[in-house]
This record gives sequence, structure tokens and C-alpha cells, in this order.
Amino acid sequence: MFDNLSDKLDKAMHVLKGHGQITEVNVAETLKEVRRALLDADVNFKTAKEFTNTVKEKALGQNVLTSLQPGQLMVKLVKDELTKLMGGDTAGIDLSGSPSVILMSGLQGSGKTTFSGKLANYLKTKKTKKPLLVACDVYRPAAINQLHVVGEQIKVEVYSEEGNKNPVQIAQNAIAHAKQNGNNAVIIDTAGRLAIDEAMMTEIADIHKAIQPNETLFVVDAMTGQDAVNTAKTFNERLNFDGVVLTKLDGDTRGGAAISIKSVVNKPIKFIGTGEKMDAIDVFHPARMADRILGMGDVVSLVERAQEQFDEDESRKLQKKIAKNQFGFDDFIKQIQQVKKMGSMKDLVGMIPGAGKALKGVDIDDDAFNGIEAIIHSMTPEERSTPSVINGSRKKRIAKGSGTSVQEVNQLMKQFNQMSKMMKMMQGGGGKKMMQMMNN
Ligand code: GDP
Repeated sequence: MFDNLSDKLDKAMHVLKGHGQITEVNVAETLKEVRRALLDADVNFKTAKEFTNTVKEKALGQNVLTSLQPGQLMVKLVKDELTKLMGGDTAGIDLSGSPSVILMSGLQGSGKTTFSGKLANYLKTKKTKKPLLVACDVYRPAAINQLHVVGEQIKVEVYSEEGNKNPVQIAQNAIAHAKQNGNNAVIIDTAGRLAIDEAMMTEIADIHKAIQPNETLFVVDAMTGQDAVNTAKTFNERLNFDGVVLTKLDGDTRGGAAISIKSVVNKPIKFIGTGEKMDAIDVFHPARMADRILGMGDVVSLVERAQEQFDEDESRKLQKKIAKNQFGFDDFIKQIQQVKKMGSMKDLVGMIPGAGKALKGVDIDDDAFNGIEAIIHSMTPEERSTPSVINGSRKKRIAKGSGTSVQEVNQLMKQFNQMSKMMKMMQGGGGKKMMQMMNN
């Protein structure tokens, strides 16, 4: 995420390295680079200028008061200012109202339908809501179908009306349906166009006026940079929306939209989309995003994701198995599946401080686990629970079954053995020993 920007900001900070103190000259030089980095990331010109002016004032004003090195001070100031620019505090969504009605707006292709599904899934699993998805696109039957597919996938009911060409009426009927059926959150997916168009704006404004949603979200593709900011402006003038959803942040996004949208429309980014799957949704935290942009990782989110997947019962069972030397390939695959559920590898690595920089240029492949899983799936139950029975001929059979080579099977066995040994060591009080070894 935002690799280029992170890189350039890192280089800008290097200007101050070795300088004992902050001066007008070295600050100006650093901030010139910072501004260039922001503009290259497609940050709005005015925003970039104001940003560097504020940081400059603060840097020169604080110089005497701090014991930080100039480089550290600058990183702190840039981080604080980036956080502020992206909204400061984390903004939640309004889930009051029975049902709470959430209206989605945005251009076609921005990721509205996908996000509607993600939000329904999020409300269902994290907020224990009973959501209803509503298809209000009366022009494209494919769009209605798409929402039904999404609904089936996440097991959330989808409301649509075949033949009704009046989206305001559909939205109103859907809310009535929700009240009758005990759905306490209604997510309304609306029709988008490829570009701003008066008929579309009137339609969404009419729906907005008629149903008075608790929350109106504007969905925008982060890849579109400055266009995203301009579209946001137009939608905001008509809808006075409550928050922004930035999608496709998993792609090669330069970051401009994330950084400038708040300052241009004065509405917070509330969620981000980081993939096509239904769980690729994150609440937007400005401070954590600033950390990521500055290459400091995002340990808090990483730990949160790990905790979400963490099952205490399973973990206890696993510990017992390790203690009894019964850790097998079935357990191994379960571990892999848990890690996979945490998100894409690229995304996870980006959350580890410094890892983004260290692994720059390394192709992190989300399919890396597939080979391992295929090998394990080709084993018999006995081989999985008692790996020691796997001899040469069994290896050949496993390799053939999984479309891999004996070498690959051997490599997996080796990794597995190392991991089992390490787990055993961590358990038997060896954890402490290992930590001591590492600290020495
Ligand atoms: P809509 O026309 O606004 O409803 O957009 P869709 O929900 O149909 O999304 C358009 C395309 O973008 C689809 O191919 C989605 O799978 C994809 N998409 C949506 N959100 C994300 C995201 O966060 N990351 C990625 N990589 N793709 C996304």
C-alpha cells in the first residue's frame, strides 16, 4: 500500500540525517522533497502546500523545545500532520434507528455492490446485526443479480423487486419489509453511472430525501486519485454524505485520494476496501494509516486481526497435542488456514514495521500456500496424523497426487519437522531460553 509514497518520504527524511539541528535551510530542503512526494502520489496541490507549510512552522517553532533528533522530529511532525489531514480520530458509523438505514452512493465500478456485501458481513459478524441488503439499481439486471450472489455468499437476505422501475419506492418498501422481518440494519445499494450524470444525481438525491438514512456513504475507487476527490465533491454537494469508503487500496494506489479527500470535502473516510473478498474491509484509522505511509507498519491492526482468528479452545487443544508430540499435518493446515483468513500476505507484511522496505521488490505470492495445501490434501489421514510413516514410496505418491515433486514434498516435511521442534521448545520453558539466546 502506498509503496512509492513511503519510499519518497523516507528519502526526504534522510536529508536531515546527520544534521545536529533543524535550520530554515534543511527544513526547506526536506519539505520540498515531502511536497514532491505528495504531489507524485496525486495529492491535491493546495493540500500538499498547506501540509508542508504547517509542518515547516511547527518544525521551526519546536526546535528548541525538543530533545529529538531533527530527523525524528520531522517524522513525528509529518506523522501527526498526516493523521490530522486524514481526519484525526477514527470515525464510526451511525447504527442508531430501528432499522438503521445505510445508503450507498458512488459511480459504477467504484465497488459499491462489493462494499455493500462487505458491510453487511461486517455488521453481521462484528456488530451482531441482522442486515438486509437492498438492490435499487433498476437499470442493470446484472447488478441486482450480483447483489443476490453476494447475499448468498455471506448468508444475508437480499431485497429486490422485479419489474419495479421506481428506486424510491423499492427503498421504502425494503425498509417496511425490514421492520416486519426484524432486520435492524438496511443497506441500500443504488445505481451508479460511469461518470457523473444529472439523472443519476437526481435519483440518488430523491432516494436520500425520501428515506432519510442514518448514514450515507460515498464509495470511491482509490485508484482514481484526484478524480476520486472531484467526484466526492460533486456527490457531497448533492447528498451531504456522512463518510467516504475508499476501495481497492490493495492495488497499486498512489495514496492521493486517501490523503486529500478529507481536507477537500471535510468528510471522514470511514472504511477501506482491501480486496475482492467479503472480509476485505477495514475500519479506517487515520493514525494507523499515517504509520503505514511512513513505513512504520501497523502492529495494532495486525494484532487485532490475529485476535479475531484466535480461538482459545483450539489453541488449548493444539498445546496439548504439541506437548504429547501429536502435532500433525492436519494441525499444520489449520494454522495455515488461520493465517490466510487474516488477509492477503502482501497486506499482512505491510503491517510489520520495516518489512515493507526490507522486502521491497520481493514478489509476495498469496498462492504460496496452495502448493503446501495440495501436498497435505494428498496425504492419507494416517500420514497426516503420524508423519513419521511417510517413506520414499509414499512421498512419490503424494507428489504425484498433488502435482508437485518429491523434492517439494521433502521440503515441506523438513519445514514441518522444524516447526514441530520449535513449538515443542517454546512450550517446554524453552521459550524463555530462546528469548535469552536472541537477546544475547
Ligand atoms: P459497483 O459497480 O460500484 O457496484 O462496483 P462492484 O462492486 O461491482 O466492483 C467493481 C469491481 O471492483 C469488481 O470487480 C470488484 O470485485 C472490484 N472491487 C471492489 N472492491 C474492491 C477492493 O477493495 N479491492 C479490489 N482489488 N477490487 C475490488
